[in-house]
Amino acid sequence: QIPYSASVVHPKHLTTLMSAIKGVALSARVVGEDPLLDRSVSTWVHEDLSSRGGSNEWAVTYFDQPIPIPPYLVAIVVGELESRSLGPRSSVWAEPSVVEKAHWEFADTEKMIDVAIDRCGEYRWGVFDLLVLPPSFPYGGMENPCLTFVTPTLIAGDRSQTAVVAHELAHSWSGNLVTNATWEHFWINEGLTVFTETKIVQKIFGMETGAIRMEEGWQHVHDDMNRFGMDHRFTCLCPRLQIGEDPDDSFSSVPYEKGASLFWHIESVIGEDVMKSTIRHYFDTFALKTITSEALREYFIKQHPKLETEVNWSRWFHEPGMPLFKPKYDAAPVQEAVDLASQWESAGDAAAALQHQTKAAVASWPSSKKCVFLNTLSKNRKLSFESVSTLVNGYGFTSCNAEIRCSVLSLWLPLWKDGLDRAPLTLAHALVKEQGRMKFTRPTYRAWVAVDPQGARDAFAALQGSYHPICSKMVARDLGV
Ligand SMILES: [Zn+2]
Repeated sequence: QIPYSASVVHPKHLTTLMSAIKGVALSARVVGEDPLLDRSVSTWVHEDLSSRGGSNEWAVTYFDQPIPIPPYLVAIVVGELESRSLGPRSSVWAEPSVVEKAHWEFADTEKMIDVAIDRCGEYRWGVFDLLVLPPSFPYGGMENPCLTFVTPTLIAGDRSQTAVVAHELAHSWSGNLVTNATWEHFWINEGLTVFTETKIVQKIFGMETGAIRMEEGWQHVHDDMNRFGMDHRFTCLCPRLQIGEDPDDSFSSVPYEKGASLFWHIESVIGEDVMKSTIRHYFDTFALKTITSEALREYFIKQHPKLETEVNWSRWFHEPGMPLFKPKYDAAPVQEAVDLASQWESAGDAAAALQHQTKAAVASWPSSKKCVFLNTLSKNRKLSFESVSTLVNGYGFTSCNAEIRCSVLSLWLPLWKDGLDRAPLTLAHALVKEQGRMKFTRPTYRAWVAVDPQGARDAFAALQGSYHPICSKMVARDLGV
């Protein structure tokens, strides 16, 4: 882990940002007094500008990241960017056509920072800016220090997707300040981050939204483990990758959700308030250091000796399968969505009437609750193609945010066959064309190729060039091309 400084020469009309603080010009610094300043850098910048015909069309921006960081957190972006202030510590950056919408969507960011500081301790990075990337960005977010990258699919117009911001913010402590020593301990970065993210969501959006977040996490890890096989080594918290194995193949919700479950388990043993102070102390103790699973275990046992026997650490770390502890939450909001799913399953000819009666209630549900409803129906597989079409169109799900449309497609596409209304194929095509976030793109292609292999592969062939290379590689594997 090292600090860095940078001088970036770029076209004057564009903006450059890095995972760092904008610094002062080299000319204002004193060589010899500033440990980050190397005389040759200043010379290089001067020569570079001269070789480009002077500084009329080129500008230099300087950056400092004084906190030592691992190399995966060095990030740079150059583009036509504007910013809007979200508060004293935070701004959002985006292309001009997006920046106003982004400003509205991420208005809760400062509140999130306050909650995160209360839980995790001092925020050491100075600023927490957000940058909205183009639609091909393959992830929900990336926690680059000072400058979190986010996908534009978070801009849903209803602030329903901003838990991703809480997640990336939590990485300012778990991941960026205390970093997993190797990727075998990746679950510490992600599990503790999901734990803190959920605490932030509970505090800002309420316990109902928090409960749904936990239920979604549980469903997600269950689905991923089913896909691998419940005894597959990729379902262990500390997976052993074999030589030549691509880490992208083992990537799943396991380190995130199973990791978070371990922290919920620890909290259930030592209590909520003690957990909060223990986590703050943990971040202070290991700040600017790396951490292994064994060191984390030793730390928690030293703080609270009863954890040695009350937590079966080696099973948690090394055994495959579902988490040994399911976090407790108020099941009522989740149950309401599950109940509506079973009403649909027994509605038969009364489907249209049911849709009519429940339309207003469903419209008022948060986005994540609609997804629980849709995912329950997908898992049970009891509805016909016609019933799903009535449901999807009646509730207006085809014009909802990408998260809901992706859940719709997991339910609708598997029921499609030749001769039926092509609406689900059209919806799938629109979703994989407008964005390239793997969370939505991969499951949509997987469901599509199962019922319409040629259509899915043709669409991918035409769109492949618009995806990020990682997304393109993974979808190609999913499609067998
Ligand atoms: Zn993360």
